[in-house]
Amino acid sequence: MTCSDGGEFKLLIEAVADPLVVCDGQERIVHLTRAAERLLGWTAEELRGQPFTTLVPQRLHHVEGCPVLRYLLQRQPSQGGHPTLMPLQRHGGEELLLEVTTGHAGEGAHERIVLSLRRLPEAPSFTPEPFGKDVSLKLWHSGHVAATREFNVADRLYQLITDNAPLGIFHFDRTPVITLCNDYFARIIGSPKQLLIGLNLLTLRDERIKDCIRATLQGEHTCYEQSYASVTSTKVTPVRALFAPCRDEHGEVGGGVGIIEDVSEQLRAEEERATQAALVATLLRTAPIGMAFLDPQMRYVRINDMLASMNGQPVEEHIGRKPHEVLGRAGIRMEQVFQGVLDSGKPLEQLELSSQDIRMEGPLRHWAISLYPVHGQDGRLLGLGAVVEDVTERKQAEQERARLFREAQEAVRMRDDFLTIASHELKTPLTPLSLRLANLERRLEHGQPVDPSAVRHARHHLLRLTALINDLLDASHVQSGGLALHRQPIQLDSLAERVIHLAQGSHDGVHHIEFHPPPAPLQVLGDPYRLEQVISNLLENALQYSPDGGTIHVSLEPRGDLALLSVKDPGIGIPADQQQHLFERYFRARNVSTHSYGGLGLGLYICHDIVERHGGRIWVESDVGHGSTFHVALPTYPEAQAGVAPPSEHPAH
Ligand code: ADP
Repeated sequence: MTCSDGGEFKLLIEAVADPLVVCDGQERIVHLTRAAERLLGWTAEELRGQPFTTLVPQRLHHVEGCPVLRYLLQRQPSQGGHPTLMPLQRHGGEELLLEVTTGHAGEGAHERIVLSLRRLPEAPSFTPEPFGKDVSLKLWHSGHVAATREFNVADRLYQLITDNAPLGIFHFDRTPVITLCNDYFARIIGSPKQLLIGLNLLTLRDERIKDCIRATLQGEHTCYEQSYASVTSTKVTPVRALFAPCRDEHGEVGGGVGIIEDVSEQLRAEEERATQAALVATLLRTAPIGMAFLDPQMRYVRINDMLASMNGQPVEEHIGRKPHEVLGRAGIRMEQVFQGVLDSGKPLEQLELSSQDIRMEGPLRHWAISLYPVHGQDGRLLGLGAVVEDVTERKQAEQERARLFREAQEAVRMRDDFLTIASHELKTPLTPLSLRLANLERRLEHGQPVDPSAVRHARHHLLRLTALINDLLDASHVQSGGLALHRQPIQLDSLAERVIHLAQGSHDGVHHIEFHPPPAPLQVLGDPYRLEQVISNLLENALQYSPDGGTIHVSLEPRGDLALLSVKDPGIGIPADQQQHLFERYFRARNVSTHSYGGLGLGLYICHDIVERHGGRIWVESDVGHGSTFHVALPTYPEAQAGVAPPSEHPAH
């Protein structure tokens, strides 16, 4: 290469990315590459034509009696191509430790000496000592620092720390140019170290980072936390960087140090955590069951909308408060249960509690509650988790099912009882009837006289059978819509008297029947046949269920616009819990056994229908062992005209 093709030479030099300084044979500077400009803080213009020693500290202008540049050239072959370690002087006088490789070409006016520079990340003692121990010492420490083995060991340690630290570390001087960095830093930024060393930080685009650097050079500690877009590569890295000023022995800030951390993973993990947390929060909020977390002091930390609404308070009213502060005395009971779980450390699953159990006001609710102690990874108790399910509807459905089941069982039992009783009742009059008829037949065949009482008894059994069959038919009509009524004005006192008279004529004679008529005749609008059926049924029952004999009192009296008929007996009475069922079909009270008392349990059922359909009411007052009084209240006539429908035929029959 000659000066004549200097244009091409210049172009080549411009293209070189490394820091190079080119000198001529007179040791004057001819050119600096851009990288060298950045590294040394001079521009090529400023240095062109200046002696190379402009870049060399005064004490090194001559080494071992030889101008420094010549000295370097002579040493190069003996170094085996290895660079020489020496300080160069930056613009402003600051010394910069560099590896210098020297090359030489041409003769005389065409002679060119090229110095390739590399900023040393390593401590000085790591490279072979270029000038021999003495010179090296002179170079490095400017004669100020004593060379000791300890110094080298400490430096090596520093280098090990810097190189192996899991953080990017770099140093910048006052200008502020990066003078040193470790590989980790280069990896984070995504550019080779050679490009980064010598980079002036104020040429970066990122204003925030420039602010940090400026503030650091003012003596402040600063922090940079965001995505950093490298200017030397296309890499964008979320980073966290801390900057601290570096002070000399006089306390002056001579530069700064930065440590930088790639936080992509942390951010990803944080994002993941945030997503998970959002997911959990959404699940918690929208879950169709109540959930809460309480701290070891039993204060609500989290609670979802569902549980808050079960407690009847908004979510905010719970946080930081204890259950009794939110729920009053119901909360005290809950706290006792919670405390049990916290003390035992054992979960409690599917505990069934009702609002009644915890004395909570409002409508009855049932809950299934699961409680479990929550421990941190270190085993420390963090608090208590609660899952609460409102099972009121399920519970009610269960109760309803149980009730229906009981009723169904009861219905089956009643049907079976009825079949047994009905067959027994129907059969009972048949045997004596058949015997009496056979006896009559024999007597007539032999021309013997017939006893009228035998015929009367036969007829009695027949009537009994007819009455039973009538009851069955009537009950079936009631069941399918009601008995037919043929209403007409009736003198109720006369009707009652007639029924009593008939009963007196046909009953066993053990009982006595007393009638207490009203002071004046009482008229009702009704079906005489059906009302007679009601009175005679009550009377028959009074006679039947009064085994000890005694007097049956039948009274009739006016009560406002009602006629009140009462049949009072001194019989066995009816247990209180059975009274409400007396007017149901087939019902027979517990205290009547089939053997002692016949009956199908239909009479009162039919009476109830007849009375109700006359616009009246039937009820009983009874005491077990002390007798019963059946009352029938019917609207009197003509007062009842307005309230009672006109006489009409009923479709049944
Ligand atoms: P039954 O044909 O069984 O008498 P009822 O319908 O007339 O049918 O009566 C239903 C049940 O009511 C009776 O089985 C009996 O248990 C009870 N009962 C009715 N009247 C009386 C009464 N006067 N004293 C005691 N129990 C009575």
